Amino acid sequence: MQIGIIGSGISGLSVAWLLSQRYEVTLIEKSASLGMSHLNSDFEGFSIDVPLRIFSNLYHENLFKFYSYLGEEFEQATLSASFCFKDRIAKAQFKAFMPDLVPVYLPSLTNLSNLSSLWGVSWQGAVKIAQATRFYAETLRAIGQNLDTLSFGQFLQERRLKDEGYQQYVAPFLLLAFSCTHELLETLSAGMVLRFIRLFVVSRWYRLRNGSTQLAEKLANKIAVIKTNCAVESIVLPKGKVKKIQVVCPDKVHKFDHVVLAVEAKQVPLLLQNESCFKHELFKRFSYKLNTVWVHSDKGLMPKQKRHWSQVNYFLNQSKDDEISNYSTVWLNSFPSFKARLDYPVFQSFNPSIEPKEEYVLTKSKALRAIMTPESLKATQEIKAMQGHKNLWFCGSYVEPGGTLQEESLLSAMYIAKEFGIEIPWL
Ligand SMILES: Cc1cc2nc3c(=O)[nH]c(=O)nc-3n(C[C@H](O)[C@H](O)[C@H](O)COP(=O)(O)OP(=O)(O)OC[C@H]3O[C@@H](n4cnc5c(N)ncnc54)[C@H](O)[C@@H]3O)c2cc1C
Repeated sequence: MQIGIIGSGISGLSVAWLLSQRYEVTLIEKSASLGMSHLNSDFEGFSIDVPLRIFSNLYHENLFKFYSYLGEEFEQATLSASFCFKDRIAKAQFKAFMPDLVPVYLPSLTNLSNLSSLWGVSWQGAVKIAQATRFYAETLRAIGQNLDTLSFGQFLQERRLKDEGYQQYVAPFLLLAFSCTHELLETLSAGMVLRFIRLFVVSRWYRLRNGSTQLAEKLANKIAVIKTNCAVESIVLPKGKVKKIQVVCPDKVHKFDHVVLAVEAKQVPLLLQNESCFKHELFKRFSYKLNTVWVHSDKGLMPKQKRHWSQVNYFLNQSKDDEISNYSTVWLNSFPSFKARLDYPVFQSFNPSIEPKEEYVLTKSKALRAIMTPESLKATQEIKAMQGHKNLWFCGSYVEPGGTLQEESLLSAMYIAKEFGIEIPWL
């Protein structure tokens, strides 16, 4: 049986790797290199992941086990965070509580236990930090309660948690993690948001020490045929005497028994434009945010004082409740592998409202990320019911309900592989 997989992000690559255990797989990607790595940049002999993707041992349970199974090396993220306001002045820094000794990450409590990490603390400032701490405590207290029918906005309102502490020190992290606006965040299920926060707080977080380019190559080694630089134009389902699915590419028409669409949701209706037996409307319910990612050495996008630099630095516009003008900068040298290799500071800024100075720019890329909404969450159920219909399968971070992170991508790949009778080796 021949299987065609379109799209080589983590979902396409992992479903191709899994199915290759038993079937002849062809992986087709429109970019010049594999999806996990096509934005990565080479600096002084090593590759920097763009965007830098981190994962936890608890939220990304399968991803963590998969990478461990593949023998990948990890390095731990400390995830210290600084919150900066006007003129890049940091008002608070959250640090992991003994990350190497206890597997508990308590960013909120460290502020209480480590007062030296607060600067210029006024009483109002201390109150906000106490409010943020109360938010995390409430979240942990809600363990075991079924909050799936409640929206996150209702949860905040019922427990009177939508105070300034939440706005300043909790919401920015959630908006970044879920890749959504305040308004959307509050419409999400409280159960889902709180599960994510709890896992975030108690997890260990990692990145791949050798980056995703090497991982993509490792996965690609097992796949029979890989075609890059090949944008699929359309898919034609079997009709009459034609028994195979035709995948129309600029150079030729490929024929497969089954096809997995591991492309962004919004690409699906375009590829299936001539096939009315699929509910195109379902895929249009997913919207995407185009993120601008800069890799640079401009200290002007970091907290003003070096002692306030954290691994993740949030820059918040206090005057407007406007997440568009908020941005974050990751300090790459705070990871041991970067520190060992780079003797000058290197940062990765996500959607900065000011551009780094040209002479400090190493690379600039655009990366799409699916945004979750209540409508798109409902669509995931209906898409599941369509899986395998006419031998077509849908794979990607948007297919599984959750945070549109790499774990959801892998879960969707595992679902398809299991439907083909493949045993998941890390389970
Ligand atoms: C800025 C940013 C930061 C992120 N940080 C994290 C993080 O820290 N941790 C985490 O877990 N997740 C993170 N994510 C999310 C994570 O990157 C995504 O969940 C994941 O990459 C999605 O993978 P996918 O395979 O589902 O889809 P994609 O990676 O979107 O793959 C789709 C592939 O299909 C290809 N394609 C599309 N159309 C065609 C066509 N017609 N023909 C051939 N090929 C086609 C595309 O080129 C692409 O390679 C981040 C995302 C962004 C944007």
